[in-house]
Amino acid sequence: MRLKGGLLDAPLAIVDLETTGAHPEHSRITEIAVIEVEGGQVRGEWDTLVNPETPIPYGIQALTGITDAMVANAPTFRQLAEDLFERLEGRVVVAHNARFDYGFLKREFEREGFNYNARTLCTVRLSRKLYPGHARHNLDALMERHGIRCTARHRALGDAQVLWEFLGIAERECGYEAVAAAAKGIAKQPSLPPAIDRAAIDAIPDTPGAYIFYGESGAPLYVGKSITMRTRVMAHFSDSVRSGKEANLAMQVRSIEAVRTCGELGALLREADLVKELSPAFNRKLRRSGGLFTFVFAPHEAPHRALRLAGAEEIESGSLPFMHGLFRSKRSAMTALRGLADEHGLCLQTLGHEKSVRGGACFRHQVERCAGVCAGKEGLVAHHARVAAALARLKLPPWPYRGPVGLVENDAQREATEIHVVHNWCYLGTAKSEDELTSMIEGPPRARFDHDHFGILTKFLAGRARAKVVELPAFTRENSIEVACTAN
Ligand SMILES: [Zn+2]
Repeated sequence: MRLKGGLLDAPLAIVDLETTGAHPEHSRITEIAVIEVEGGQVRGEWDTLVNPETPIPYGIQALTGITDAMVANAPTFRQLAEDLFERLEGRVVVAHNARFDYGFLKREFEREGFNYNARTLCTVRLSRKLYPGHARHNLDALMERHGIRCTARHRALGDAQVLWEFLGIAERECGYEAVAAAAKGIAKQPSLPPAIDRAAIDAIPDTPGAYIFYGESGAPLYVGKSITMRTRVMAHFSDSVRSGKEANLAMQVRSIEAVRTCGELGALLREADLVKELSPAFNRKLRRSGGLFTFVFAPHEAPHRALRLAGAEEIESGSLPFMHGLFRSKRSAMTALRGLADEHGLCLQTLGHEKSVRGGACFRHQVERCAGVCAGKEGLVAHHARVAAALARLKLPPWPYRGPVGLVENDAQREATEIHVVHNWCYLGTAKSEDELTSMIEGPPRARFDHDHFGILTKFLAGRARAKVVELPAFTRENSIEVACTAN
């Protein structure tokens, strides 16, 4: 019984092209063959030479046997485009190294004003999946392995016929279900969301960066990041992950914006900022920006309310060394504190976090969880010293540099550089030139602490190898005072 709805059940176009070279941008098609297959049966074979309107390099003439003279009177792609477009419409393009043939077709169609999108099935990848024991999967290797004869090797129809024969042999040897499953597995080409065309996907650079999916009337739906943006975006739409939430997201996408960065760190920081700025409906993890709490221990200021829970507004670069723990809610902060108090026999009443029983020992002392500073069994100073020791575990890791640093990422391809300026775990911004860096050092923005940045930066610096770190001169005088007093 055949699997229904699989890639192989769709109408197929087994395609082979001959070209003047390897690059769709500079090279042109010289011959096209299409074998149309429906329901496992060949419905038609079609091939034609194409006038590439450019000389065919000698080496390629020698390989294919297609000469300038042969194509001189052949139709140009322009003359063929409309018919070919109709012939291919709705068909899965099956080709050996499908990227190559699909890339050429797409580019040639584009030159003639056609927006060509198709699902593809690469027989190189199919062969690799079905016959993993073999190292070589080029067309000659396939022919030799499976005893396939070719009447016209390196000609479009001859090579396309080899592919059709290979599919038949694979089905006989491995079974239809195995071939269909392999085809499904390698068909990464997504069925794109209805409103997104292939050109929009192709326009996304396959580089580090953050991307935004927008829905109806420009509402931000989702922000993501990747070191290979296009691949990641396509993965959102591929059949295998298209279930539940992902499918829902794909259905709603109307446009995609890509923000290229020089490296992974830039992409992570950009993603975190965009999520906060846009609050996209489908982002959960990085979304809450307000809820952040920490403990401030100040026994000298208020001996009987020595431990204070502080909110996000108090957490910034300068105060960070005095903070203990970072919590997303008051509740999780109090749970952590109770755990510490139980473990070390600390008195929550004395610290100001439990209602005091007038003149009496706290309830936790009565159940032997508090060592009894509240009952006069321990001095306040000794108790607070133990509090300080217990809190040390919650302390944030010390800033490992003398002052601000720049985390440098280079994009060799564009000859671009980004310097992410960071101080005391606070991200101040990204400079893209010497001038921008200088003005950031001379007038740095206020260093607000951000829990997501903190998480990104600690992880990134722990795995050091990926970013170059340069120590920057201290900021303005005002800031250098702050730096000086936070140094201890
Ligand atoms: Zn107590």
